[in-house]
Amino acid sequence: MERVADISKLVYRHKQGGQFRWVTVSVLLLAIGAILHLVSPSVAGVTPNWVIATYCVAIQLTRPTYKQAVGIGLVAALITLMTSKSAFPYGNLASEPIAALFCALLVHGQARFAFVGEKTLAIISGFFTTVLSGAIFVTLLFFIMHLPLTVYLFGMWPLVLVVALCNAVVTPLIYMPAHHFFEKQGFVADRKEEETSHANYDLKPASQALISVEHVTYYYGSSKSSAIKDVSLVVNKGDFLVITGPAGCGKSTICQAMVGAVPQFYGGQMQGMVFVEGQAVTQTTIPKLAMHVGFVPADYDSTLVTMTVEEEIAFAMENRGYDPARITSRIDQVLTQVGLKGLEKRTITGLSGGQRQRLAIGAVLATNPEILVLDEPTSSLDPAGTSELYELVGRLNKEEGITLVVVDHNLQAVLPYANRAILVMDGEIVKDASMLDTLTYMYEERLYTDALPSLFVGYMQLKAAGYAGQAPWICVADALEDIRGEVPTYVKG
Ligand code: ADP
Ligand code: MG
Repeated sequence: MERVADISKLVYRHKQGGQFRWVTVSVLLLAIGAILHLVSPSVAGVTPNWVIATYCVAIQLTRPTYKQAVGIGLVAALITLMTSKSAFPYGNLASEPIAALFCALLVHGQARFAFVGEKTLAIISGFFTTVLSGAIFVTLLFFIMHLPLTVYLFGMWPLVLVVALCNAVVTPLIYMPAHHFFEKQGFVADRKEEETSHANYDLKPASQALISVEHVTYYYGSSKSSAIKDVSLVVNKGDFLVITGPAGCGKSTICQAMVGAVPQFYGGQMQGMVFVEGQAVTQTTIPKLAMHVGFVPADYDSTLVTMTVEEEIAFAMENRGYDPARITSRIDQVLTQVGLKGLEKRTITGLSGGQRQRLAIGAVLATNPEILVLDEPTSSLDPAGTSELYELVGRLNKEEGITLVVVDHNLQAVLPYANRAILVMDGEIVKDASMLDTLTYMYEERLYTDALPSLFVGYMQLKAAGYAGQAPWICVADALEDIRGEVPTYVKG
């Protein structure tokens, strides 16, 4: 275990498409290989071995582990086996996995020979992988079919070499467009930019908070500029934290970092670290983090996948492996919690926007996370739906002890419930304080003033004009109290 002296310098690089990139790329390429295999004409009985050429390209593009390469070889063997006209097609089950493993050896060995470029590697791997596969295949055939030695040496071996020469030509020809295509999707594992593993680091948070974001700077995979810069914050147990700021300032990116989707799902490069209940997000998985942090994204509709209200809650729980008896009783509890009791059988499309938002929250709550992260939960709700939603999350926070992180620009609605507000501008946290302090800072520094509640602005303007109130107004009741209390002095003055 390696200790990390300065967490802000710790870098994590990851490609989008994650751990299954090699499956995506090799399945697509092998499908193309199979089609080419079926349609390609043979000249004097000779045709390139398209299946080998395509898996060589897949292995070169994704740099899979040796085990994964054997898996790719097995799939290639099955494709060849099913379309083969050979007397002993089962020989492919040995030749292709071994050849694919050899191809992976060549690809990983390339790092030691810096002068071997990608195209040269495609030529080399195309040729030698085909030679090895062919050699194994014809040798098996020779022994199993008891063929004469002359046929083996002077009939089969020359054919193997000719096919390998064909593959030395077609493999780079497939490699180039495939590289171009998958590079755009961010699916290519660049040898100069190997992915980072934090498996051997001893990563400990600086704070014992539920979530500790420490010096995080993050670049999305396709982006040259950072979406967030040196962001540090803590979420303490019981907090109701609001994150606000103009569009594009990085609020959603901060949320995604708290649930591990940044950097595990989106790829790209992260510096610094996010810890959830003491666990570094680069040392665990998104599903494991989801047991602690429930996340409802801005497009909550996209998270609803079933037909009816009760199915939606059940689905979320089935996904996490809850047993059926527990699910039935929990559906009841959760629907009561989010105020959808009695609507169990309703179809989701028949619900209002506010009800669907509450259902999305319910589906997340069903699995008992300690923390709930809501990204712009009220952006598509009307004022009545908005206040209903905040009443609900306020209650979850106060009565059920659920820690809340909410992104919103509608500060008026969330004001009565939040204990802290963070202002983000251009990827950086510029203020992290109590709600009132952050509002005052925004007003005084003229930052993102559009989001300030009108009553608060009114109070500040009155104060500037000489009005001596007790405390800023954040709701009508406050204002009324203050005004009533002040009337005598005001009249006297
Ligand atoms: P906010 O939620 O405050 O509107 P975001 O966190 O969505 O801001 O975006 C911060 C920055 O990151 C913006 O410049 C945005 O264009 C960029 N960004 C957001 N999502 C992606 C993505 N998936 N890929 C590339 N860039 C992104
Ligand atoms: Mg956003």
